[in-house]
Amino acid sequence: MITKKTPEEIEILKEAGSILARILKEVAKEIKPSVTTLHLDDRAMELAEEFGVEPVLLGYHPGFADRPYPASLCVSVNNCVQHGIPSEDVVLQEGDTVNIDMSIGHKGMIVDSGITVPCGEISAEDRKLLAVTEEARAIGIKQAVPGNHIGDISAAIQEFVESKGFSVVEVLCGHGVGYAVHEEPTIPNFGTKGTGPLIEVGHVYAIEPIVNAGGPDVYFDDEGDGYSVYTADESMSAHFEHTVAITENGPLILTK
Ligand code: MG
Repeated sequence: MITKKTPEEIEILKEAGSILARILKEVAKEIKPSVTTLHLDDRAMELAEEFGVEPVLLGYHPGFADRPYPASLCVSVNNCVQHGIPSEDVVLQEGDTVNIDMSIGHKGMIVDSGITVPCGEISAEDRKLLAVTEEARAIGIKQAVPGNHIGDISAAIQEFVESKGFSVVEVLCGHGVGYAVHEEPTIPNFGTKGTGPLIEVGHVYAIEPIVNAGGPDVYFDDEGDGYSVYTADESMSAHFEHTVAITENGPLILTK
């Protein structure tokens, strides 16, 4: 079932979203060579405490994992697509691309957002990957209007990304959010216009293109930390995510 949030709940989500945007902006400032990804998590925890919000990924137990998530932030570097666990062993280097992804709880409501940030100077090809992924998010969000279908978001993202020579990851998707970290509907980054659930006022979605510079295939690192997802061909990957409420006037971006 796709839940509908009340206008009052959307107001709370807006508050939560602006706090999350500030946290990500602050954490992004820490991204530089020689910093560990664990440091980024420490900073995110510190900021969550400062703002009085709950870092809901900490202890979250998704179906695919055999243990709860041990951090407040996902930090996925370069060819790590998603769910990188912050670690003191991962030291950022000049030229890395660093995806930080966080969900917070505020007054009983949950928002989810992520950005991919350059560490120092990155290559022109990587800059293009980041720019295309961020633009794909905007293009997907534009389709999130009442009366459209989820497939309209999916198709718009896929069409744009592939037109730029990149590919979308198919096993990781956007999702409903608000009362829980992951709610219905699933929002794939590939699909067909006019298909899938109807988009209605009061829905709240996490729209998150996950884009690979190479092929779309990925693998879960079951032999390693049990969470990290990597590109199969070791190509670079990027991710940008906003939480968006569907209003009569169209999509309202909450996490900015
Ligand atoms: Mg998400």
